[in-house]
Amino acid sequence: MQILNGKEVAAFHREKLQQQVALLRDKNIIPELALVLVGEDPAAVMYAASLQKAAQQIGITGRLYQFPDMVTETMLCTAIQGLNNNPIVYGIIVFMPLPEHISAHRITNTIKPEKDVDGLTETSMARLFMGKPLFVPCTPKAVMAMLAYYQIPLEGKEVAIIGRSNVVGKPLSQLCLQAHATVTICHSHTRNLEKIVRRADVVIAAVGKAEFITADMIKPGSVVLDVGINRKHNQVVGDVDFASVSQVAGAITPVPGGIGAVTTIMMLENILLFKGDLG
Ligand code: NAP
Repeated sequence: MQILNGKEVAAFHREKLQQQVALLRDKNIIPELALVLVGEDPAAVMYAASLQKAAQQIGITGRLYQFPDMVTETMLCTAIQGLNNNPIVYGIIVFMPLPEHISAHRITNTIKPEKDVDGLTETSMARLFMGKPLFVPCTPKAVMAMLAYYQIPLEGKEVAIIGRSNVVGKPLSQLCLQAHATVTICHSHTRNLEKIVRRADVVIAAVGKAEFITADMIKPGSVVLDVGINRKHNQVVGDVDFASVSQVAGAITPVPGGIGAVTTIMMLENILLFKGDLG
């Protein structure tokens, strides 16, 4: 059984990014990642700080744009339009949740698609589903980077994805499809989930339930990728019961140190994919 090590994959991509950033520096370009934070949601504040640190580590400026809870939707849109028009800003991220009086849909779609490093605007999603992706959300991208690094091809394979969220399951299904897999997406209304998962050559768990996938659901030798991040008894665990599934699987990602370790670097990689037009 092989452990798919996210830290190793992240280090590989980080080195490549540092070289790209150095080339830009030679041209006196220091890209900025604009981090837009409204209010003081603790998880969002923590995520913003960790992105800011990660950006700085590879030589990109991570600049925080903070707004009070009572900022109006119009003011926030105007601020984002300003970032859209600022040439040094290569990427814009708006942290969720936003206060109730602000439409997350409107704000997300105010971001210019060329700077949508989260890959969550309608344009980014549509392009992904049309097979012409511009920016891919970082978690699905991390899953694909993991498979690529360990040279696990998806062509002709049966892939079961458990979870159909807009940030993980749905975009991931498109990426797997584009890699020529046969994809089944499971969700809370799926019947015979165990049977579907047991048939799969590759299982991707993005369900948000601690240790939901157990060894009896896994075909021996299959590849298991665990996107889940859950708290259990003060510990971080995945959506896969690692102890039992690792006895059956051919390859598996741990939690922590698996997919989660690759996501931030994928976001930073998106920043350097910045293009002046939609191509
Ligand atoms: P989400 O929006 O809550 O979606 C969960 C999905 O799981 C939904 O599609 C839901 O089905 C499905 N589901 C829930 N209970 C189920 C059940 N009993 N049987 C089958 N399907 C079930 O979660 P998410 O944002 O996609 O995140 C999923 C997990 O990944 C979470 O643990 C999250 O913390 C983690 N995550 C990790 C990263 C990372 O960087 N590694 C990034 C994002 C998220 P319905 O659609 O029918 O409700």
